[in-house]
Amino acid sequence: MNNFSDMTVLIVEDDGFQRKVLVGMLSSLGVASILVAENGRQALEIIHGADAKSIDVAICDLNMPEMDGMEFVRRLAREVQNIAVVLTSALEGQLLASVGRMTQLYGIQLLGVIEKPVFPERLAVHLLKYRDLPHKARPLAARSFPLDEILHGVRADHFEPFFQAKVELGSGRLVGAEALARWIHPDHGVIAPYAFIPLLEQTHNIDDLTFCILRKSADALRYLHDKRYPLAVSVNLSLVSLDDTSLADRITQIVRDAGVAPRHVVLEITESAAMTDVAPALENLARLRMNGFELSIDDYGTGSSNMQQLTRIAFSELKIDQSFVKDFATNRALRIVVESCIDMAHKLHVKSVAEGVETQHDWNALTAAGCDIAQGYFIARPMNLAAFERFAASR
Ligand code: C2E
Ligand code: CA
Ligand code: CA
Repeated sequence: MNNFSDMTVLIVEDDGFQRKVLVGMLSSLGVASILVAENGRQALEIIHGADAKSIDVAICDLNMPEMDGMEFVRRLAREVQNIAVVLTSALEGQLLASVGRMTQLYGIQLLGVIEKPVFPERLAVHLLKYRDLPHKARPLAARSFPLDEILHGVRADHFEPFFQAKVELGSGRLVGAEALARWIHPDHGVIAPYAFIPLLEQTHNIDDLTFCILRKSADALRYLHDKRYPLAVSVNLSLVSLDDTSLADRITQIVRDAGVAPRHVVLEITESAAMTDVAPALENLARLRMNGFELSIDDYGTGSSNMQQLTRIAFSELKIDQSFVKDFATNRALRIVVESCIDMAHKLHVKSVAEGVETQHDWNALTAAGCDIAQGYFIARPMNLAAFERFAASR
C-alpha cells in the first residue's frame, strides 16, 4: 500500500485539527510531499505558484468560509485542469454525490467523495485510483502539447485508433468496438486523447484527425470482416466538425473507399460539447443517417439542451455516461438515472449502451436493469488492432 512516495498532495481544509489529522494520515500512507492550504484562495495561490506542475491530488473540504469547495473546484477546472480531486464533507451521502457529479461536469478528475470523518483506508483507495489512472489526470501525460507538435504528429501519421470491445449483456457476444484515438509519440509513448483532442477542437483542427481515425478504423473493420468477424466499429465525431455541411459526404467517401458499408459504422456524437449552429449539424446528421450510418449519442445525461434538438434525428444508440455507470450498483440516485436512461432508450427503440463497466457487480446490475450493451475495463481495455483481433478470437 505504501507506495505513494512519488505523489504530491494538497490539503484544502479550514479546520486546523482536521488538517493535522489529514497530514498525519498522508504521511503514514507514505506520501512524501504534502502541501496545506486553509482555504480555496490560498490553495489556488499555491497551485499557481512555482511547484504547481507537481501537484497530483487536492483533498478538499466542501464547507469552508470565504471560498467554499464548490467554488474552488469550479476555479480549478477553469484555471488548472489536471489536478485530481478528493472531496470531503460532513454532508450526507446523497448531497455529496450530487456535488461529486457537479465536479465531474466541470471536467475535474474526481477520485471520490468521502463522508467525514476520513479514514486512512478510504483515502488510500482514492489515491490508489489516481495511481492507476491511465493517463487522464497524470500531469505528465495530460499536460497538453503545443499545437504545432500535435499538428506535426497528425501530418506525420503518428495517430492510431485503439479498439475497445462492446459486448451484448444478455449473451456476452462481442458486437463491435469503439475506436479511441491514441498518439503514438516517438518520445513519450502512447498518449491519451485528453492531451490533444480539446486543443484540436478549440482551434478547429480536429477534422484531419477525425478522418485519419475514421480511415484506419474502416480499414481495420474491412480486415476483421475478411476474417469473418461480423462486427461494427464506432468512431467519435466532434460536434464542432458538424458545422461544415460537407462533412457527411467526406465521411461517407472515406468509409466507402475502405470497402465498408456505412451501416457497420456508428458515429458517436457527444452530447455535452457546446454547439454554435444547430442547422448545419442537423443537415450533416440527417445526411449521414440517409447514407446508412448509425448514430450514437455519447455521454448521454451530461449534456446541454442543444442536444435535445439533435435527438429528433433518428439515432440508433444511446450511450449512458460512465460517471453515472460507475458506482450505480450501490448508489440509489445513480441507479435511478441509469434505469431511466435505459427506459428512455427502449421507448425510443434504440440500443442502450453502458460505458465504464468496471466490475462484475456493474455487469450484473446492468443486466438486471435490461441494458443492451456494455463497454468497459471489466470486459477489455482499449487495445491496438493486433491485440483486439486476438481478443476477438478468444471469444
Ligand atoms: P468517450 O468517447 O466517452 O470514450 C470512453 C472513454 O472511457 C475512453 O477514454 C476509454 O478508454 C474510457 N474507458 C473505457 N472503459 C472504461 C472503464 O471501465 N473505466 C474508465 N474509468 N474509463 C473507461 P479515452 O480513450 O481516454 O478517450 C477519452 C475521450 O476522448 C473519449 O471519450 C472521446 O470523447 C474522445 N476521443 C477519443 N478518440 C477520439 C477521436 O478519434 N475523435 C474525437 N473527436 N474524440 C475522441
Ligand atoms: Ca465515445
Ligand atoms: Ca462517453
